[in-house]
Amino acid sequence: GNESRNQAIYQITNREPTLVDKPKSLSKIWAQDVFNLAKMEEALSKSAYKAIKKTVQTGAPLDAATADVVAAAMKEWATKKGVKFFSHIFYPMTNATAEKHDGFVITSPDGSCITEFTGSLLIKGEPDGSSFPNGSLRMTNAARGYTAWDPTSPAYIMHTANGATLMIPSVFMSWTGEALDKKIPLLRSNAAMNTAAQKVLSLMGETEIAPLNSSCGAEQEYFLVDENFANSRPDLLLAGRTLFGAPSPKGQEFDDHYFGAIPPRVQVFMQDFEDRLYKLGIPAKTHHNEVAPGQFEIAPYYEAANVAADHQQLLMTVMKITAKEHGFLCLLHEKPFAGINGSGKHVNWSVGNPTQGNLLDPGKTPNENLNFLLFCGAVIRGVHLHGPLLRAVIASAGNDHRLGANEAPPAILSVYLGDQLEQVYSDIKEGKLEAVADGGEMDSGLSQILNFTRDPGDRNRTSPFAFTGNRFEFRAVGSAQSVSGPLVAMNTMLADSLNWIAEKLEAALSGGADKNAAVIVVLKELMELHGNAVFGGDGYSAEWHKAAVEERGLKNIPTTADALPAFQSDEVKALFESTGVLSAVELESRYEVYSEQYVLSIEVEAKLVIEMAKTTIYPAASTYMMDLATTYSGMAQMGLEVDKTSAEVVAVETNAMMAAVAKLSTAIEKEDFANIEEHMQFLANDVCSLMAEVRLHADTLEGEVADDMWPLAKYREMLFIK
Ligand code: ADP
Ligand code: MG
Repeated sequence: GNESRNQAIYQITNREPTLVDKPKSLSKIWAQDVFNLAKMEEALSKSAYKAIKKTVQTGAPLDAATADVVAAAMKEWATKKGVKFFSHIFYPMTNATAEKHDGFVITSPDGSCITEFTGSLLIKGEPDGSSFPNGSLRMTNAARGYTAWDPTSPAYIMHTANGATLMIPSVFMSWTGEALDKKIPLLRSNAAMNTAAQKVLSLMGETEIAPLNSSCGAEQEYFLVDENFANSRPDLLLAGRTLFGAPSPKGQEFDDHYFGAIPPRVQVFMQDFEDRLYKLGIPAKTHHNEVAPGQFEIAPYYEAANVAADHQQLLMTVMKITAKEHGFLCLLHEKPFAGINGSGKHVNWSVGNPTQGNLLDPGKTPNENLNFLLFCGAVIRGVHLHGPLLRAVIASAGNDHRLGANEAPPAILSVYLGDQLEQVYSDIKEGKLEAVADGGEMDSGLSQILNFTRDPGDRNRTSPFAFTGNRFEFRAVGSAQSVSGPLVAMNTMLADSLNWIAEKLEAALSGGADKNAAVIVVLKELMELHGNAVFGGDGYSAEWHKAAVEERGLKNIPTTADALPAFQSDEVKALFESTGVLSAVELESRYEVYSEQYVLSIEVEAKLVIEMAKTTIYPAASTYMMDLATTYSGMAQMGLEVDKTSAEVVAVETNAMMAAVAKLSTAIEKEDFANIEEHMQFLANDVCSLMAEVRLHADTLEGEVADDMWPLAKYREMLFIK
């Protein structure tokens, strides 16, 4: 029966927010657990500090002697805070993180112990690489994998209730030097972007050009469900989403949750969570309720892409741990509840350096900002040429539920520029570059409200890739994903486009054109070739779905099964090889790992659907039917008229559900696939629709079976009881 469901409701109703410490000032806690430059400056000699600072800020190589000194200082700092273990933390090709802990301890012959941490231990670790999904790289080299310290991402301490570990952000590579992780490609993509950008900027006459870096600010959406409910739902625990559940009579239609007052228990959780982030040097900046009931968002302030990517992973880890301590299960899945808004992760991205600033900031007069026009043009070309790659890096079983549905950007990659910029680029296409109207001043007409400057263009929520004033916002990324894949794709396509621009620009300039004229010539050609990717209208509309494909030649790529094969296309291979970001074999291994992950996710879900239908839902439905039968025969004995509609519906739906379960069980046994593409297509089509079929009948049963006999926490309970 439903004892656990009832008990859950009882427990939650009597629950108080978990009390945490009184608020402390930001300056007291900020980065207290981070071995950052400020701490190094205190601990190191002037020369050692200068060397490590140069490495951190520009990626310059570090000598072994300095590494030794840094290691000693790091250990000193950490052991004073009670740390006894250290670990390289790395980022395998899954969306998770991995760590292997080692003690600082060594013993002396007299039985006493001391702690030791040398430069070489800091620099290199050697976990067994063979158990991580490596794709085809597993074949070429058996087991050896190395982790290596990334000094550009600061080390930090992770605390538990009674211990603490020094965490050292690292890359992960095979014995043959191939990237087995998500960090190496990100660092390489950044380097490729820098090289290409340097070429363009020097052609534009810039003389002093500091190294360029990409920046990332990620907005993370998530759901909180009380753990008492979560524990009674195997689907939430194992798949991260509900595989069953009838819609609640009230869902999100009133939009009353969006930006609403945050429930007190959640507010307490958020503040605790954010204090932990501050201690780790993660600049939590924005939080609010999201569209769906039980859904929230957190966005830290943007940072260098490499650090932001590490921080994003850490943020997800800390969020789950903190939620648990507050009695919540934190759901990062892209679609935990059918019919309710899903969760995304908007990845805000720009590139810049200290000498030229943010190259994606147009300033007040974009038509006069030639550098900006070239870099923004390069992004337009990238989105047009590499739409399928951008779609592939956001492909996952979870994100398939969002993309293309009417809540999230469509599965067609286009780029939104806003009115003002769209005008500038369409002028360029006509060979001219003129002043365009800015947003002007906003005058509310109310004397007590101050006027302010209006943005030159509105926002467009329906675009997967939107310019938002001084950056691009990749809005189609899934909430559970690492931001590295999208950042690698964006940096690499930008590098490729800047290389193309440099070549064209050089030709135009050596032909005698002045800078202004040369830029117009190059961008005119670019817009003629790639302007089709620019779209400012409603991305959710049926007209766009038709026009994008039929008139613009863009691709609509609905599922992961359709999207992932892009990793094997000649365009993508050439892109990664020419920029030096991924070799053919590294790319192939990624395709294999991501395909495998997709197959595994769908298979786990299918098995859960079968198990829950058979062992939880079927028994509830048949018990209810027995109850009805008893009632009916009693009524008949009393000579009362019996309406058997309910029993009939339950019987029909139960049988239909079990028939679909049988078909699903047969389907997941199928093994004779010609290749992985065929296997993925079978799962995306046949298996997913059979799961949906089982669910349809189960959800109908939920609406028939007596409430006190229904075993699974209902949508209205999980979404609204906090
Ligand atoms: P919105 O919900 O309006 O899109 P938020 O304030 O929630 O905006 O999030 C915007 C994110 O973009 C933040 O992480 C912010 O720090 C980041 N951001 C702002 N400027 C840049 C930039 N130049 N490059 C990269 N990210 C940026
Ligand atoms: Mg946003």
